[in-house]
Amino acid sequence: MNYLRRRLSDSTFISNLPNGYISDLQRPDPAQPPPPPQASSAMSPTSAGPPPPATSPGPERKAPPAQSTGASFFSSITNVVKQTAASAGLVEQTQVTTSKKFKILLIIDEPSQEWAKLLRGKKVYGDYDLKVEQAEFKEINVVANANGTCTVDMQVLRSGTKVVRSFKPDFVLIRQHAFSMTQNEDFRNLIIGLQYGGVPSVNSLESIYNLCDKPWAFAQLINTHRKLGAEKFPLIEQTFYPNYKEMVSMPTFPVVVKIGHAHSGMGKVKVDNHSKFQDIASVVALTQTYTTSEPLIDSKYDIRIQKIGSDYKAYMRTSISGNWKSNTGSAMLDQVAMTDRYKLWVDTCSGIFGGLDICAVKAIHGKDGKDYITEFVGSSMALVGEHQAEDRQLIADMVLEKMNSLAEKQANAPPRPTTIQPSQGAGLKGETVGEPLKDGRPPNSCLQYILDCNGVAVGPKPVQAN
Ligand code: ATP
Repeated sequence: MNYLRRRLSDSTFISNLPNGYISDLQRPDPAQPPPPPQASSAMSPTSAGPPPPATSPGPERKAPPAQSTGASFFSSITNVVKQTAASAGLVEQTQVTTSKKFKILLIIDEPSQEWAKLLRGKKVYGDYDLKVEQAEFKEINVVANANGTCTVDMQVLRSGTKVVRSFKPDFVLIRQHAFSMTQNEDFRNLIIGLQYGGVPSVNSLESIYNLCDKPWAFAQLINTHRKLGAEKFPLIEQTFYPNYKEMVSMPTFPVVVKIGHAHSGMGKVKVDNHSKFQDIASVVALTQTYTTSEPLIDSKYDIRIQKIGSDYKAYMRTSISGNWKSNTGSAMLDQVAMTDRYKLWVDTCSGIFGGLDICAVKAIHGKDGKDYITEFVGSSMALVGEHQAEDRQLIADMVLEKMNSLAEKQANAPPRPTTIQPSQGAGLKGETVGEPLKDGRPPNSCLQYILDCNGVAVGPKPVQAN
């Protein structure tokens, strides 16, 4: 529906209309006898459809103002489109005019992870009901506006039924990878849309975007390694190639070549000698992406240290099938004690990119008795081991806590400005609905609000306009 609505307001669409359409539209319709009141109210969008369903908030829509006669062409197209879409079961025609008494949490995850069950019946500060909308990245689309609105359109198949929804999320939890090199798995545009619309999130959208390229994230580990030293933060040696051209030779073999940004062991190749390295370079030439290479560690087991809020867990994973990648084939997973050393690793990583509420550090423990940190991951990390249910509950509780504190801040924050106007001469009249203007402010000044990390206004301050 939103697509159709956008299409109708699309300038290309408008420009493709035959000459004279727009001017015809702007011309008043020829005088017609006024329709009987019942007939006009039957066509009114505000009266269309059933009352809002209790389980789904649906889109927040205001009743539109009375249509001018000149817009009747678009209005009739819109009505036809609405009716056609509604009769096809595509949209809810509900007009929600009641004040919003719910907060919407969007969770981006596979349907098998039933988050709604964990959060059923929960309330958010201010006596809001919590509504959970869950979808995968591939099932949603986002439209964001500079005024801070963000609409998510979602089309999901649930038990064979197509569910179509459009809503404005108040918070988002992202549990899927936003970027993978496998086909059609680049959702960075949606992360940008959510950020553009100012939707608060766990982890932060900034960190999710930054974690979309593994070498970019590894660069942060290099900084940490420099700060803490190799003893405390034993990072694996790694070389970065922006493309295949510099992949000429490696000083030592065997190495592991990691092509681009992929998950689940994909694009990771063990290379034993120079000629195989050149073979791989020729494959990389076709991919048009970057590559890293690192020494192949004769591994005893993999280490994974995870942190969810203030909960820490450490695991070791040992390959059973003998595959050098312990995440491929069968492997044994054991929880191990959280040591101070592991805690330091994960605490340090959780401070990267402005802070990660959910993160894990991955390392390899070699047969030489040494550890090699290889990577850190964020809120898209898979949950492992026998405490997955507990971990999921921890994440759900943390998200709810964040939504509560955000709602509390919003409730206590001064009113936000609704418009921002550059000062023109006397210039400050009616520019905001916030604090009243103080006499004696410099003529070229405007109200700038101090925003906290979640975009909540915490106080106005006068600043010099540029
Ligand atoms: P996931 O999506 O599960 O995190 P991934 O695609 O990020 O996997 P890596 O974790 O980098 O891939 O590597 C997959 C596995 O390969 C690791 O779990 C580890 O067992 C093995 N591995 C990775 N790098 C090396 C290395 N340098 N030496 C030896 N083994 C390695």
